Amino acid sequence: MTKKQSQITRIKVGVSSCLLGNSVRYDGEHSYDACINESMSDLFELVVFCPEVAIGLGIPRPPINLVSVNGVLRVRGVVDTSHDVTDELIDYAKQITGQLNELNGYIFKSRSPSCGTANVNVYDGDTKQVVNTSAGLFAKIIMQNFSQLPIADEIMLQDKKLRMEFINNVKNYAQIKNKKLTS
Ligand code: SF4
Repeated sequence: MTKKQSQITRIKVGVSSCLLGNSVRYDGEHSYDACINESMSDLFELVVFCPEVAIGLGIPRPPINLVSVNGVLRVRGVVDTSHDVTDELIDYAKQITGQLNELNGYIFKSRSPSCGTANVNVYDGDTKQVVNTSAGLFAKIIMQNFSQLPIADEIMLQDKKLRMEFINNVKNYAQIKNKKLTS
């Protein structure tokens, strides 16, 4: 491995655990993505997170979704709507701030009420109708707290141009962060 390659390897990028083939989804399955496993893991040190498992939801587990309650975004059970895990997800994101600080990018699983970066359905708490779309709550917190962090999902990374852009953005982000640390 060249010096340049070994430097790149140390760049940490967060990734939704299910994308690496870990069977952590609510249905006990995974969402293995070949592009991430083959190209991204060669370039970066991938740091896995599954917020739903981390807050103690089992595998498998009843599905959750995004709900609007008086205009406020909550995360609740689809069947058992009294099962509200909003505060747990917020607390978890706070607990791992130190780990998130070390990241130079994050690859999220699309369409998840926890990890989706956009366009996740938000349901009305009473009527169960779709009233809006949003990022999943965990992804939303990270994007708010680390607004400059390069973000992608597995769908975006299928596009070669967007993939290259993400890779460059991660490298630039890491470089800028290192400069700040050493200056
Ligand atoms: S999308 Fe996020 S919360 Fe859902 S299984 Fe994957 S890593 Fe876990």
